[in-house]
Amino acid sequence: PARVIDGKAVAAARTQALAQRVAGFRERTGVVPGLAVVLVGDDAASAIYVRRKARQCEAVGMRSVQHVLPGATTQAELLALVERLNRDPDVHGILVQLPLPRPLDEAAILAAVDPDKDVDGFHTMNAGRLALGRPALVPCTPLGCLLLLRELGVALRGKRALVVGRSVIVGRPMAQLLLMEDCTVTIAHRHSQDLAMLCREADILIVAVGIPGLIRGDWIRPGAVVIDVGINRVDDGAGGSRIVGDVAYDEAAHVAGAITPVPGGVGPMTIACLLENTLAAAAAIEGGAAA
Ligand code: NAD
Repeated sequence: PARVIDGKAVAAARTQALAQRVAGFRERTGVVPGLAVVLVGDDAASAIYVRRKARQCEAVGMRSVQHVLPGATTQAELLALVERLNRDPDVHGILVQLPLPRPLDEAAILAAVDPDKDVDGFHTMNAGRLALGRPALVPCTPLGCLLLLRELGVALRGKRALVVGRSVIVGRPMAQLLLMEDCTVTIAHRHSQDLAMLCREADILIVAVGIPGLIRGDWIRPGAVVIDVGINRVDDGAGGSRIVGDVAYDEAAHVAGAITPVPGGVGPMTIACLLENTLAAAAAIEGGAAA
């Protein structure tokens, strides 16, 4: 049976280590890293995410400022806030919680964020740097997946990696990161033919699609490392619901060498990486080493 990759434990250990790094940074520079989180409208899930991010930020000794704006906020008002945060010396990371309510122009807002404070790594400048293989603020979810792979201690160089999904926030940056690790990278998406066959060739399989149980056990190469990014709420057959990934876990766990559970795999790593990005941004801005 597969080794179960405990993302919750890895995230907790990293967060604990981060708290010490934040304290050291503060001692050396006198600066408390600050994360500004912007939430527009009253989407319930977004509100939960934002609160969780703010709470964890404070738990590691960083400052967090939440800006909650009404759903009717105009593009100009939101841009003005982003520009104010760009100039605010106490703010080192800016996160605009997505999705933004219509008719706000998400792309224009993300483009307005100072790339040096772009802790989500969504700015074109950071996506471009990553594509060029240069240091960048990297999107948190794929960064979390990479850290889990590193944690396993398996050699990545020369391995065949398949990334299923090509979204801007997960699939594409994931593929870039694996390329920087010298993997042979294939990207599959909704138009890919023979997905099962592509999967069977992969030593490392990263799935970020949003379809429960899409990847079946017999699609997995024996011994492969499987990282399941999917978060899908499904009927639990008892009048309630539960969260499952994009991989048919019970089947896959018999074949894979290692696998992330859902929940408790990739999910906890995402916030941990956001906090690490915030310290990295503060260190780059203040010119102090983050280590
Ligand atoms: P998205 O909807 O932006 O992208 C989905 C991708 O899957 C697309 O590139 C599409 O081409 C591809 N796809 C769709 N159907 C397919 C099929 N049948 N075969 C192969 N590819 C197919 O989604 P996203 O934002 O990348 O998120 C993907 C999943 O990951 C979702 O379940 C989401 O909830 C989850 N997610 C989790 C975290 C986390 O912290 N763990 C973070 C972000 C997203």
